[in-house]
Amino acid sequence: MRLAGKSAIVTGGAGGIGRATSLAFAAEGARVAVVDLQQEAAEAVAAEIRAAGGEAIALGADVSAEADVERVVAAVVEAFGGVDVSFNNAGIIRRTTAVETTVEEWDRVFGVNVRGVFLMCKHVVPVMAAAVKGSIINTGSGWGLKGGGQAISYCASKGAVVNMTRALAIDHGPQGIRVNSINPGDVNTGMLRDEARQLGQETGSFLAEAAERPLRRMGEPAEIAAAVVWLASDESSYVTGTALVADGGGIA
Ligand code: NAD
Repeated sequence: MRLAGKSAIVTGGAGGIGRATSLAFAAEGARVAVVDLQQEAAEAVAAEIRAAGGEAIALGADVSAEADVERVVAAVVEAFGGVDVSFNNAGIIRRTTAVETTVEEWDRVFGVNVRGVFLMCKHVVPVMAAAVKGSIINTGSGWGLKGGGQAISYCASKGAVVNMTRALAIDHGPQGIRVNSINPGDVNTGMLRDEARQLGQETGSFLAEAAERPLRRMGEPAEIAAAVVWLASDESSYVTGTALVADGGGIA
């Protein structure tokens, strides 16, 4: 029970990595607020946690909207008495080159992936600073570190998440708050199926690509969740500002 007594927020909590991490947080003893644009799906994850004997609430919210983020943080403080862990994980992707990307699409990707992470941090930091403790984990991507093809707005947005995370760690370390990014490679979630649809490809082509990684396979959401649990827990108490990569060795 590495997160016993802790209160945690998971954004994108109804998606592949978010759901797995919500379940893993609860299994380690945390009270979990499952936050997602898809409220019903978030409620289903919270119900799954409660059915297993855990404590969870679900909140529908758009992380790119400041009023929604303020409402979420206030609701979690009201329900759980504080915020010890914030996994800022909601994200979207557009599989287009710079020439193909419209300004509206660029702004939407940055709205969710960058402004969403910024807003979550802006509003959880004061709560954590008052308690002089907290662990924030932002979801970047292997592509935020090394780039990738046909995803210009996504790669730029995830690079911003990685560096924003370092900047947050510098500003808020003195307040007892640790801030790290988790950077997955290809993980078997709805996002991959969405990418395949956007590219007009079969999801099998992603499996073939993943098979070229040193570990010769795609990642599963629970494998990312396990790394996030470590960053959330006191086991990583001297780790901040780092970009943890969990990608089957794809960076090699
Ligand atoms: P997913 O599509 O299964 O989950 C994403 C979730 O975010 C969905 O439930 C969606 O409803 C929610 N969401 C989208 N926009 C939102 C908004 N504005 N406000 C609130 N919630 C919103 O995808 P996933 O693979 O679980 O992605 C989780 C994170 O992991 C994303 O940030 C993604 O970029 C990142 N990531 C995924 C992979 C991968 O291969 N799957 C690789 C690297 C990084």
